[in-house]
Order: sequence, then structure tokens, then C-alpha cells
Amino acid sequence: MSTSDSLQEIVCCMGQPVAGNPTQFMIERAFVAAGLDWRYLTLEVPPENLEDAIRGVRAMGFKGGNFTIPHKVSVIQYLDELSEAAELMGAVNCINRVDDKLVGDNTDGKGFVQSLSSVTSPEGKKFVVLGAGGAARAIAVELGLSGASEITIVNRSPERGQELAALLNERVKVSAKYSPWEGDYAVDEGTDVVINATSIGLGNATARVPLAYDSLQAAMVVADVIFNPPQTVFLTEAGNRGCRTLDGLGMLVNQGVIGFKIWTGVDPDPSVMREALEEYLEL
Ligand code: NDP
Repeated sequence: MSTSDSLQEIVCCMGQPVAGNPTQFMIERAFVAAGLDWRYLTLEVPPENLEDAIRGVRAMGFKGGNFTIPHKVSVIQYLDELSEAAELMGAVNCINRVDDKLVGDNTDGKGFVQSLSSVTSPEGKKFVVLGAGGAARAIAVELGLSGASEITIVNRSPERGQELAALLNERVKVSAKYSPWEGDYAVDEGTDVVINATSIGLGNATARVPLAYDSLQAAMVVADVIFNPPQTVFLTEAGNRGCRTLDGLGMLVNQGVIGFKIWTGVDPDPSVMREALEEYLEL
């Protein structure tokens, strides 16, 4: 498709603050590579203006958008429909206009599962998820929907951990339990995949996730949601014990791939998107 053949459409990202947006850089590169004369705008929207901003999305006929902190939950009330995953998570990070309806989805967990599928299928596997915030919630729900056999949620604050385990058991119908996080967490022997879904390591290459690293076995897959820097202490320790590792860049790229397909109907080139992210993050 040549640029002149493609109708210009606009996709936006709303958050506050939004200084520096690797997703914009990645998606705009993918538009160019796909020959689409589309734009991805990053818009700083304070919470009190979100309703008006969504009215603006409708009025200006934007094709879709991404939502980051602090809008992922509050945006739901202004949308027309939700995907199953977004409804279960109670959070939306991606919207798409279908005719005159705005449909909310959550691509965080789908991006993770797609990244995981490059090394293993989630089906029938036992997972340990460290964290119970937005990322952990999205990942755990999507793993449950993808056939995981057991999910252990390990979180510093018990309330959030217990609430997520209950959601998984009661609504996603996957066997889940909460495990308290005291000192270095030791991973059970039968675990297949261990995921750091906390914010430990964000912007700090020396931050250590409190884990008894000798409990990791070479057969386990170990994944981190942190994408900046992508080589975390968590992944280095796991790699030293022979585990296969997945960095947070893969999740971010795949989340972008899924959003791109939802908005445009076109499969983007993931390698173009990963290269763009690496360039943006100066890796
Ligand atoms: P939230 O603030 O919702 O959750 C943070 C989580 O980290 C909570 O479970 C919190 O525990 C835990 N945590 C934070 N500090 C510590 C600590 N010192 N010790 C133990 N636990 C801790 O954040 P999100 O879930 O939205 O984001 C988490 C990370 O995921 C961020 O770094 C974000 O950049 C990354 N992310 C990556 C994506 C990707 O595509 N690669 C996509 C989305 C997010 P508690 O409940 O006890 O406070």
C-alpha cells in the first residue's frame, strides 16, 4: 500500500504526565513501515478533563487510543463496550472506534502472553506472579484466560494480592492463591514460569527483586515487565542459573503490535517496532 492510498487517521495516547513516550515513537515508525499516513498523538489530559477529552475523540473521529496512568480505570465509564479481558480486569489501556462506538480493551496482558509464546505456551503451566498492581492484574487475568493451570500471586501488600487471587478464582475460573512476601521469596519446585510484575527495577539497573534466586531452576522461564533498562538484576540472576528469560521490551512491542492490528487491521512488522524502541531508549 502506498502512502497516498491510505486515508489519514489519528490514534492518540492520553495520560498525565506523558513526558517522553516510547510507544508514540514505536507506533509512528510502524505506520511508516506499513505505508499508512496515520498519526499517533501523545496528549496530556488531567483527570478532570477526561470526559471532555473522550467527547473530543468522538467529535474529531479519532480511530482509537491508548490510556496510561491515571486514566486506565476511570475511562471505562465513557466507553460503549468492553472486551472480556478489560471487563474482568476493570482497566482499559486501548480503545478502538467501531462505527460510532468506542470499544475498550486491555492489551497489557495480551502483549505479555504473546511475548511468552515465543518460548512456551501458557496452557497447563504453573505461574508465580510477583506483584498485584495494574500490570500483574492484566497479565494474571490473560494467563488465566489462556489456560494456565495455577497462578500464585506474591505481593507486598496482602489486600491487593488477596483481591487479585480472589478475582482469578471467582471470575476467571483459574486456580489461584495469594502468598505473602516476606524476605526473599522462594519459588516452588514445580513452577514453570516466574514473572516480575512489580515496578522494582524501573529506571534502576541495580535494583534487586527480593527473591531466593537459588530456588530458580534451569527449566523455568523467567520474565520481567521492566523495559527500561531491559536487562534487570532479576533477569541476570535467572540467566546465570540457566533459565530462559524474557525482557519487558518484548511485552511492550507485542502490546503495540496488538493495538496496531486493532486500529488498522494490518499486521505490523515487530522487528521495526523493537528497533524503534531500542533507538528511543538508546540501548
Ligand atoms: P502499580 O503501581 O499498579 O503496581 C506496582 C506493583 O509493584 C505493586 O504490586 C507493588 O506492591 C509492587 N512494588 C512496588 N515497589 C515494591 C517493592 N519495593 N517491594 C515489593 N513490591 C513492590 O504499577 P503497574 O502494575 O502499572 O506497573 C508495574 C511495572 O510494570 C511498571 O514498572 C511499568 O513500567 C511496567 N509495565 C510494563 C509494561 C510493558 O509493556 N513492558 C506494560 C505495563 C506496565 P504493593 O501492592 O505492595 O504496593
